[in-house]
Amino acid sequence: MSTSFQSPTPRGYYGEFGGAFVPEMLYPNVEELQQRYLDILADADFQAEFQQLLRDYVGRPTPLLEARRLSARYGTRVFLKREDLCHTGAHKINNTVGQILLAKRLGKKRIIAETGAGQHGVATATVCALMGLPCVVYMGAVDMERQRPNVARMRLLGAEVRSARSGSQTLKDATNEAIRDWIANPVDTHYIIGSVVGPHPYPDLVARLQSVISEEMRRQLLAQTGSELPAYVVACVGGGSNAAGAFYHFLDEPSVQLVAVEAAGRGLDSGHSAATSVLGRPGIIHGSRTLLMQDEHGQITEPYSLSAGLDYPGIGPLHAHLGASGRARFVSITDDEALTAVSELSRLEGIIPALETAHALAALGQLGAGPEEVVVVNLSGRGDKDLETYLNNLDKLL
Ligand SMILES: *Cc1c(COP(=O)(O)O)cnc(C)c1O
Repeated sequence: MSTSFQSPTPRGYYGEFGGAFVPEMLYPNVEELQQRYLDILADADFQAEFQQLLRDYVGRPTPLLEARRLSARYGTRVFLKREDLCHTGAHKINNTVGQILLAKRLGKKRIIAETGAGQHGVATATVCALMGLPCVVYMGAVDMERQRPNVARMRLLGAEVRSARSGSQTLKDATNEAIRDWIANPVDTHYIIGSVVGPHPYPDLVARLQSVISEEMRRQLLAQTGSELPAYVVACVGGGSNAAGAFYHFLDEPSVQLVAVEAAGRGLDSGHSAATSVLGRPGIIHGSRTLLMQDEHGQITEPYSLSAGLDYPGIGPLHAHLGASGRARFVSITDDEALTAVSELSRLEGIIPALETAHALAALGQLGAGPEEVVVVNLSGRGDKDLETYLNNLDKLL
């Protein structure tokens, strides 16, 4: 039995979820990472370079804003952790900065990544430009179409974007292509995974790199409210990296309620959803045992969300465990509810959120938080990349 939610077992398990289920040809890569990641992360040199880049390149610490009009609307004290102000517009860059420094220390000369909404691809292309490493990003053909500005950004940054044309042509298919590339290039290539998914050690590695979010929250809450501990922390979950970062330093504080918000898409029973914690069963996807949307034959069900960053058929093993153990509460929000939250935050606070982030905001009405209670919503990203989607749904936004 583990006493802390923060660390998986040495073999990468959070309760019954996690592990490393990879083809034999990937053993050496994954094993090298497993054996070296903790030492590299703890190294003083690594930490100095990581902290300097988080400050001067990413723009950390990001502000914690008390959102007064939103608070009045929901009758509670709402704070927004402004990851939308990070360089490249979302929390993803925290992870890619850390992983490129890790890749350099592993002697890797080439970087690959998968991307859904394009934010992780942009964040990866960005740090590859910064470090002068070649970069190949795999992206589903459907996502390339609905996230064209991010495809252009990656190309401007010097990355090669390769389209994945199998299955639903979205994030899971892009991940399959990236894994194939890694198998073909095991020695010189580091695969920068964009969320707390994949074989051990990725879920733990990415959670630790994103944990700067909750580390800053504790300091900022103490200064602004007199206590390091809020009543609630709310975050949206695609794979679960922004939520893992926002929850991390509160995982072992039982008084803090953790709320994970998934995409219900057109509705839980509609057949067009991505709410894995409700619709999923244990299975293996992309190298780890976790909750997974699948049919009675174990075939992966195509996920759906209007938001490209949330339509993944699995969730990270940490989140599967947080759900199963009751440590986190899972809520699901439909496309339309998320769009309403986009318009609400835009008009009440002058902040246009990413569509993924809007799912977390839409959960505010379901918390039951009291007037003096502090609720922190992790504002994972800004809405610039979603303007085309917003334009296509103006009837619901105006
Ligand atoms: C990618 C993305 C997400 C979903 O990914 P997680 O790993 O679950 O955080 C959420 N919000 C934004 C803005 C994103 O770009």
